[in-house]
This record gives sequence, structure tokens and C-alpha cells, in this order.
Amino acid sequence: MFRAILVEKSESGQSARVAELDPSALPPGDVLVQVERSTLNYKDALAITGKAPVIRKFPMVPGIDGAGTVLESSHPSFRAEDRVLVNGFGVGENHWGCLAARARLDGNWLLPVPTAFTSTQAMAIGTAGYTAMLCVLALERHGVTPDKGEVLVTGAAGGVGSVAIALLSKLGYRVVASTGRAAEAPYLTGLGAAEVIDRATLSAPGKPLQKERWAGVVDSVGSHTLANACAATRYGGTVAACGLAGGMDLPASVAPFILRGVTLAGVDSVMAPMALRREAWQRLARDVDPARLAAMTQEIPLAEAIPVAADLLAGKVRGRVVVDTTR
Ligand code: NDP
Repeated sequence: MFRAILVEKSESGQSARVAELDPSALPPGDVLVQVERSTLNYKDALAITGKAPVIRKFPMVPGIDGAGTVLESSHPSFRAEDRVLVNGFGVGENHWGCLAARARLDGNWLLPVPTAFTSTQAMAIGTAGYTAMLCVLALERHGVTPDKGEVLVTGAAGGVGSVAIALLSKLGYRVVASTGRAAEAPYLTGLGAAEVIDRATLSAPGKPLQKERWAGVVDSVGSHTLANACAATRYGGTVAACGLAGGMDLPASVAPFILRGVTLAGVDSVMAPMALRREAWQRLARDVDPARLAAMTQEIPLAEAIPVAADLLAGKVRGRVVVDTTR
């Protein structure tokens, strides 16, 4: 038997609990993994609380990320005792996920854990951090180098935001962090932000073109925040959009794109191709500062993932949450 978070649906609605499950209940897959660490991303919190229809079939074990050791494999790329990680691919949405001590997965979804990282560090990064790196790669591909000017990071004290700040500052960018939590300014400057601004300056409807400020943007908020970020992006700059913590809408105009050549670069982690994932994880191994990663991370046991999911959606969680699936 193994322990897992199980999300069930009944006539009275959706509920989550810690369950003891039989391994024979695991879905099909060619690699059986002993999950050592998982994490809580925004999407995991939506899945556990039922605040959005993330889960496609019930009952579901949530957990879009996992890191651990292969127990059994019939996949040509993996053998027992290999250290592996998974991010996305519908895991925890339509295939039982990694908020559990065991997961049976498709080997085509797995990557080796970079030797630079423990399972805890890999999950401190998790989808949030790997997405932050996808945003950094998008900025780089569009020519946003540190000499081009400031980079804005929205949702700064959240998971994507925290990792993005740490990565960009290590790479030499001047990072401006936008947060609704003024009390977290010392935390954000500790991660490398040069300046902290109030997210209220970005969240109200704004003019279609504003004073040019940002060479690049990493946005995990969406809605007016994204529209204002585009409107204040400098000529030829790039906005990497990955999130909707403030809303799924985009009340913007085309003005920044057609008058300033601004690029809006969409970033998806879930179905990102393997070559891009490998590149992102190689870069994370190179560019993550372990001390800053530790400073943004708290670790909790499996059962606590349920109450902490509600805290995360309430904006009370700072940085990243690692879930120890062994306790
Ligand atoms: P977190 O909850 O850790 O961080 C989100 C942050 O957004 C909060 O900490 C808060 O930052 C800010 N925020 C929350 N609500 C609002 C609001 N109403 N208005 C403005 N800002 C707000 O989530 P993650 O970092 O894990 O994920 C962030 C977003 O990115 C989510 O929407 C998630 O779905 C998306 N995402 C997308 C991925 C992809 O593949 N495209 C992958 C990973 C995440 P502060 O307190 O500093 O203001």
C-alpha cells in the first residue's frame, strides 16, 4: 500500500483526503516511480481545492510534478534506481499524479534529475521554476539581453515570480518585482530584485501606450497587469506571458505590437517538447543559485498539502512549497 492525496467527486462536490492505495490501482505506464518529493503549484492548488476544473477524471491523485527513483521500468531509456522527474503532460489532471509515494508514468514524460539537484531541489524548482526558465529562454530568444534595460516580474512573491527573479538577477538583468505584498520587499530584494513596486500600479485599466520602461517582462498574472506590461514595454521588447493569477482576460490593444514591435511570447510548460524541457533543466542546473532556492522554499508533509493548497490560492504562500511524499 502507498499513501497519496486522493481527490474524489460526489453529488455534494469535490473533496481531497490522504488515502492508503493499492499499487494495483495505479494507471497504466511503463515506469513505476517511488516519488520522494512533489510540490504545490498554482494548478495543484486549483486541483486540490476544486476552485477550477483542472481534474479531468475522478478519482484523481493530483500532483503535476514529481521527483524520485525508478522502481521498475520497461521503457528503454530508464532502469531501476535511475533518478527521474516529471513536469506536466497531464499528470495530476488526467493521469494519476505525484502527490503520492508511488506513480506509474509514461517513460516518454520523464527526464533524469540533473546531477546538480537533489529531489528536494528539483521539486523546489518544479513546474513553477521550469516555467520561469522557459520565460527566460523566451526573452533570450527575442534578444532581451541585460544591457537592453529593466525586466519586470509580476506575481513576484509567488512560485514562478520568485524563481524568475533569482534567475534573471543571476544572469545580470536589473529586475523590478511587482507584488501585492509590500512586507515581502526584503524577501524579493534578497532573491535579487533591484526594485519592488506595488502591483496596484499595474492592475487597473491603463492607456494602450505608456512610457517605455521594460526591455522584457515575465508575467504570471494576466489581465490588466499583462496589458499594462505590454503598453510600457520598450521598442522591440518582449513580454513572456505564462500565467493568469490575476485573470484569464487580456484587455489590451494592438498598439504596443504594431507601433513598438513588442513581442508577446506565450509560454506553456505542460506540453512543451522534450528538447525544450532538456534545455530548460540544463540551464536551471547552471543558473539556479542553491542558497536563493533554499530561501524561497518551505517543505511540508503530504497531508499538509491539502490546507496549504487553500493558503496558496489565498495568496498567503511565499515562493515555493516542496511536499515530502515519504511522510
Ligand atoms: P503562486 O500562487 O505561487 O503565485 C502567484 C502570484 O500572483 C501570487 O503570489 C501573487 O503575487 C500574484 N497574484 C495572485 N493573485 C493576484 C491578483 N488577483 N492580481 C495580481 N496578482 C496576483 O502561483 P505560481 O507562481 O505557481 O503560478 C503563477 C501563475 O502561472 C498561475 O496562473 C499558474 O497557473 C501559471 N503557470 C502557468 C504555467 C504554464 O505552463 N503556462 C506553468 C506554471 C504556472 P504577489 O503576492 O507577489 O502579488
